[in-house]
Amino acid sequence: MFVERLDKARSLMATHGVDVLMLSVGADLPYFCGYEAMPLERLTMLVVPRDGGATLVVPRMEAPRVTERPDVFGMRPWDETDDPVAIVAGLAGAAEVAAVGDHMWSRFLVDLMGLMPGAEWRRASEVTAPIRSVKAADEVERLRAAGAAVDRIAGRLQRGEIELVGRTEAEVSAELGRQILAEGHDRVNFAIVAAGANAASPHHEAGGRVIAEGEVVLCDFGGTMVGDDGVGYCSDITRCVYTGEPPAEFNELYDVLFEAQAAGVAAAAVGTPAQDVDRAARSLIASAGYGDYFVHRTGHGIGTEEHEDPYIVEGNREPLVAGNAFSVEPGIYVPGRWGARIEDIVVASPDGPDPLNRVDHRLAAVA
Ligand code: ZN
Ligand code: ZN
Ligand code: ZN
Repeated sequence: MFVERLDKARSLMATHGVDVLMLSVGADLPYFCGYEAMPLERLTMLVVPRDGGATLVVPRMEAPRVTERPDVFGMRPWDETDDPVAIVAGLAGAAEVAAVGDHMWSRFLVDLMGLMPGAEWRRASEVTAPIRSVKAADEVERLRAAGAAVDRIAGRLQRGEIELVGRTEAEVSAELGRQILAEGHDRVNFAIVAAGANAASPHHEAGGRVIAEGEVVLCDFGGTMVGDDGVGYCSDITRCVYTGEPPAEFNELYDVLFEAQAAGVAAAAVGTPAQDVDRAARSLIASAGYGDYFVHRTGHGIGTEEHEDPYIVEGNREPLVAGNAFSVEPGIYVPGRWGARIEDIVVASPDGPDPLNRVDHRLAAVA
């Protein structure tokens, strides 16, 4: 699988005229070699020349963490007194065009630029994003398993099995985090809990606010499930509940959102330009008069990273292809008052949109 992925990378390198690909901290590295760099000050880097074998440059003290895959990459451990940047530059040889991981730290890039003064620099995502954004069947199944896990948590939330009233947002967020791990994830990526007026802030950070009766509680949470091959796949879901009976005005807002989200999912077919999925959801919200309250794009791709290509946003005319996996998550946010968002992960498949989150989309009233 890794060999196949690197083959694809090499062929895109040829298309884009890239001589060497350099991957460090971030999701590219595990995707292409099954090893995730420690985000510390010591350099870890997979150096992939277009013509030639890949080498993993890794601190000697971290080398025992690496599952060696001699058919995929060679190992070049470095000692504390070595200059890892010089080792990388040596492996890059006379490369004229180098593509570096989007999340590589600038301290290493700046040093590399010094040692490779003639090189032209590109983002690795030119090469990696088109590959990562098209999921193979086994990747879809891993995303589906992660989605089913957070669906079970959302179901408990909707049935009132996760206590809300009287607890702080932060306490509920911590509880969601524990459940994300208990449901088989290896990492919690986020657990937004936003009550009442806080729900009008799309990326609200759960805090000390105590959840009261008679308010909306927006929960947006997800994590990463890492497989035996060292590659992790993410979940991401948003559901809202209301502590008590929602007022008519909120129900009206929510009904619009419900229809808009369903329209976005229904539009997510192979061949549809990504922006048309955004338009499908946004037009319903706008025509109901809430247009100014939908302040973000409709969705983002998801895979080994929580946010990746394709982005479901006006201006992205790229047609969806089978295997694209992304969120459909419109929201309506009324500052100072309340807000709501509904989010599913959807895969564009030859049989139509395939939602990986199937738990109820309606607004549950919980005690
Ligand atoms: Zn978000
Ligand atoms: Zn989310
Ligand atoms: Zn999302």
